[in-house]
Amino acid sequence: MTLKTRDALPTPLDYTTLPREELRDRILARKAERNAVILGHNYQRVEIQEVSDFLGDSLALSQEAADTDADTIVFCGVHFMAETAKVLSPEKTVLMPDPRAGCPMADFVTGDALRRLQEEHPDAVTVAYVNSTAEVKAMSDICCTSSNAVQVVETIDPDRTILFVPDRNLARYVQERTGRTNIIAWDGYCYVHDDLVLEELDRARKAHPEALVVIHPEARQELLDQADHITSTGGMVRMAEEHDALILGTERGLVDQLRARYPGKTFVPLSGAAVCGNMKLNTLAKLAWCLDHGRHEVVLEEGIRSRAERSLRRMLQVSGGWTAPTAEQEELELAGVRPKGCGCG
Ligand code: SF4
Repeated sequence: MTLKTRDALPTPLDYTTLPREELRDRILARKAERNAVILGHNYQRVEIQEVSDFLGDSLALSQEAADTDADTIVFCGVHFMAETAKVLSPEKTVLMPDPRAGCPMADFVTGDALRRLQEEHPDAVTVAYVNSTAEVKAMSDICCTSSNAVQVVETIDPDRTILFVPDRNLARYVQERTGRTNIIAWDGYCYVHDDLVLEELDRARKAHPEALVVIHPEARQELLDQADHITSTGGMVRMAEEHDALILGTERGLVDQLRARYPGKTFVPLSGAAVCGNMKLNTLAKLAWCLDHGRHEVVLEEGIRSRAERSLRRMLQVSGGWTAPTAEQEELELAGVRPKGCGCG
């Protein structure tokens, strides 16, 4: 099927009238024309996952896309994820099907608010969970994911105070695992994981006593205390390969993905209500519109992009050792002169 510009319909609403097969055909045809790659976060709707070139979490997807020779990345996720893709692929065009798909947890911390906290603690090291805006990443010393947060914090001088943004639950988990008492946690949270409650866990366990309970570290402490295993969505995908039955304490889009991938196995959402409305703003109709029109493009100011990239790359190299730089070293590094003893590059 070859599409011409005139085939494009004016609004996303117009695309909702098209049959699903036609939407899929349009998406695949336009994707080829644009030399685009479609990234589907684990929490996306099944129909979006079906047309995605890669499925995964935000960082892994952005890294996968950076490794391709695609000219355009369409990120089916939320805004900070598309920003991360742009940070790692500045030469590629990054599009989002719905620019209103933001992340309430990322929005808990703004650049101005973080700056005020940093001014109160000038010697502290700022660690930004990747679920944060590019601006916040750019203002941080290093990023972390839910899988490597403990490892990242363990590389930081025990005498330095840590400002951990924006997830208080992940901060508490890291605090418990590392035994550090000098972590100042931002009071942000993911409403999907923070809303998981013990009663739902008890019900799921009673209904599926054979299943292991696996919970995301964005959940509250009382839930994590009851888990058989605590891991990221990437960790859950790996566990699904090895186990026949899992109760999953995360957004239920991941459950849908695993059920489609392993029809013979049992995957149960810890809560049927664990749905991220922001993630679900992306639909097949909006994706088709986005590819037809080349919108909505994510643009980052280069200073913010390059600083955010530095914080991400420090995290990626953390296993090779990392020392939080002084303000003077920081300036040198941003000027392209790598300070001695810093593990980034
Ligand atoms: S699931 Fe939570 S962290 Fe992820 S996009 Fe939704 S609100 Fe943000």
